[in-house]
Amino acid sequence: MIDIHGLTVRYGKKIALNNLDLRVGDGEHLILMGPNGSGKTTLLRALLGLVRYDGTISLNGKSTNGIARRELAREIAYVPQIFSTPYTFTVKEFVSMGLYSLSREWWIEDERIHKVLSDVGIDELKEKTINTLSGGELQKAIIARALVQDSNYILMDEPTAHLDIRSTQEVLEVVSNFKDKGTIIVSHDLNALNKLGGSVLLIKNGEIVFKGMKDDPDFKGRIMDTFETRIGEIGGFFYFPLS
Ligand code: ADP
Repeated sequence: MIDIHGLTVRYGKKIALNNLDLRVGDGEHLILMGPNGSGKTTLLRALLGLVRYDGTISLNGKSTNGIARRELAREIAYVPQIFSTPYTFTVKEFVSMGLYSLSREWWIEDERIHKVLSDVGIDELKEKTINTLSGGELQKAIIARALVQDSNYILMDEPTAHLDIRSTQEVLEVVSNFKDKGTIIVSHDLNALNKLGGSVLLIKNGEIVFKGMKDDPDFKGRIMDTFETRIGEIGGFFYFPLS
């Protein structure tokens, strides 16, 4: 259980998050949505201990403030936005880096690596170098690197941004199989919400404006207010109309 109370983050005079209270249950899938600059990345950074904050963040009742990085990594893994890399690590080597948070002997062939590669569906890519992967393949390798940490929670920053439709479907399929891992996913992609279900957290100007399920009667109105746009719905599936 992640419990956040009175979380406030300031960058100089700018208040990026203002007195947030939030609880994320074990195994809960939470989609975090909000306009650019609303504080989504700052919330992830606070959870990862990468930014100074007021208030408390606790994991299973224990404050994360001052917790050792390795200990935190056992609880929370992070999938950053997709990045390009000039490095020529093989996929297998890249994924094994996730083990560094658990052991100093991370540069090893380990059955955990093979299991994760197979779970994510990239086993056949294991000897390829990461600088030769397609966007979708690289995103799956980044997810695999986080999964090998075997943490209770996983934070993902726009996992389907920059991916084509087919890769988006494949990545969302992978994420939908995180059965008992608490997952917080920053996404602008309503397909993520449609596919993954789970709960939605809408934030705007550093404040929570909604937390609930997408079939909550208030959701549609709140998301339209949050993004100041219309939202379409067909058979329970939401989309942002372009005109
Ligand atoms: P989001 O991820 O929702 O786009 P961010 O958490 O990145 O939003 O940013 C929230 C607010 O904090 C924005 O107004 C942004 O300009 C500001 N901000 C983010 N990082 C910094 C920083 N390092 N220094 C100053 N202001 C920042």
